[in-house]
Amino acid sequence: MREIAHWINGASTAGTGSGRLPVWDPATGEQQATVAVADTEDVRAAVAAAREAFPRWRATSLSRRAEVMFRFRELVDANRKEIAGLISAEHGKTVPDALGEVARGLENAEFACGAPHLLKGGYSEQASTGVDVYSIRQPLGVVAGITPFNFPAMVPMWMFCNALVCGNTFVLKPSEKDPSPSLLLADLLRQAGVPDGAFNVVQGDRTAVDALLADPDVQAVSFVGSTPVARYVYQTGTKAGKRVQALGGAKNHMVVLPDADLDAAADAAVSAGYGSAGERCMAVSVVVAVGGVGDALVDAIAQRVSKLRVGPASDPDAEMGPLITREHRDRVAGYLAQSSHVVVDGRDLVDRPGFFLGPSLVDHVDPGSPLYRDEIFGPVLSVVRVDTYEQAVSLVNSNPYGNGVAIFTRSGAAARRFQYEVVCGMVGVNVPIPVPVAYYSFGGWKGSLFGDLHMYGPEGIQFYTRTKVVTSRWPADLPQAPASASVDLGFPGMR
Ligand code: NAD
Repeated sequence: MREIAHWINGASTAGTGSGRLPVWDPATGEQQATVAVADTEDVRAAVAAAREAFPRWRATSLSRRAEVMFRFRELVDANRKEIAGLISAEHGKTVPDALGEVARGLENAEFACGAPHLLKGGYSEQASTGVDVYSIRQPLGVVAGITPFNFPAMVPMWMFCNALVCGNTFVLKPSEKDPSPSLLLADLLRQAGVPDGAFNVVQGDRTAVDALLADPDVQAVSFVGSTPVARYVYQTGTKAGKRVQALGGAKNHMVVLPDADLDAAADAAVSAGYGSAGERCMAVSVVVAVGGVGDALVDAIAQRVSKLRVGPASDPDAEMGPLITREHRDRVAGYLAQSSHVVVDGRDLVDRPGFFLGPSLVDHVDPGSPLYRDEIFGPVLSVVRVDTYEQAVSLVNSNPYGNGVAIFTRSGAAARRFQYEVVCGMVGVNVPIPVPVAYYSFGGWKGSLFGDLHMYGPEGIQFYTRTKVVTSRWPADLPQAPASASVDLGFPGMR
């Protein structure tokens, strides 16, 4: 059976840890490989390699680091199909969906090529007589990224493109469920000119995460995954004195006002609800039907859902693939078993080989029910009916998650009021999955993010650097310098 290894100091290695985990083919339900499970020694080796590589990589000129990132961008572009193939094989998403993931990841490499512009400091000449003050941005050192199964290429690229171009070295701990794309990306970084040790991959589970969180040489941790683990990573990492940004789970609402274009809203709900089998942190999981719009909207969604073609990624006509594991599929199907008002029931597909569940639609969902409260992370769309706009906003704002939200309306005034009032990190107006482009930053509010800075874009550059302010005097060269220095114990003024 194929063995998936770590990538440490520029080479593939099985490491010292003896643990192995199965990697499934979600389309067949069969095991396709095993992945190494890092022990603390493996993590130590990866962090040591990153620590040793740091001084040289930091000293590499900024224009050269940007050039390396540009070459990486070209290599990812040339290898889109290979990366997407690995994603589909282990995650199960369709090939067009996987290609979309690669394209969104690529945007982050492109953004990183322009990072020199954001790494500029400020300069104040003659802040005091003969004194100049300026700020510089410096990298942190060794930084770690811990990533989820649902975007095994894009989410690592959210992190390491900016981290590396800023001069940091990186240790990635990808999801153990689909570990292979990270190794191809590691090889592409090597080909692009990232030196050995500057980028490492440790495969594994909680043991590796805990070792990274405890390692004194790891300066900062970026995490993306479920809310309980995000909270744990944030609390443990910050307690150990590290800088941490930890993005968690989501329950994304799509509010449909009575004046909305119903066909556009139904298309959007189906695309955003069932794309990638609902395993996206920005998937729409709740449609909030306002006023009298419910019956027509549910009909329009149901008609579209019944036409969706579910199948393996090898089927070019498949629009939706399987779920990631059998346990996860069964958990998602369990919510349907508890629900009344199931309009479209996807459980007839569970008897197929593989981890399939058909797209499902539940109407009249009670906001007190587990189906509404929990993050389902599967192809189940809930419809909650409310009477007024105010009730819709109150529902969204009292939800413990705050990742993405969307409003569908023809009223600019309603949309503007909504963006002002809604308590959520990313808002779509007639756009169902408002994932910001790479030159903004990505992040939710409330239980969807622990930390201060959002991921990628300008806030990513801030996260991976710290500022230093220099106050400098060169008196000998200045005609107005005092003839002789004298001792003065007073607090220095700036005049
Ligand atoms: P997960 O939390 O189970 O795993 C994420 C990472 O943490 C993996 O690398 C995993 O190995 C590790 N991990 C798992 N359990 C751990 C533990 N107890 N202690 C330490 N580390 C642990 O998440 P997942 O199932 O891989 O991904 C799906 C989740 O990720 C969903 O909740 C989804 O909403 C979320 N997600 C959020 C965003 C976002 O930007 N907010 C993006 C993608 C996915």
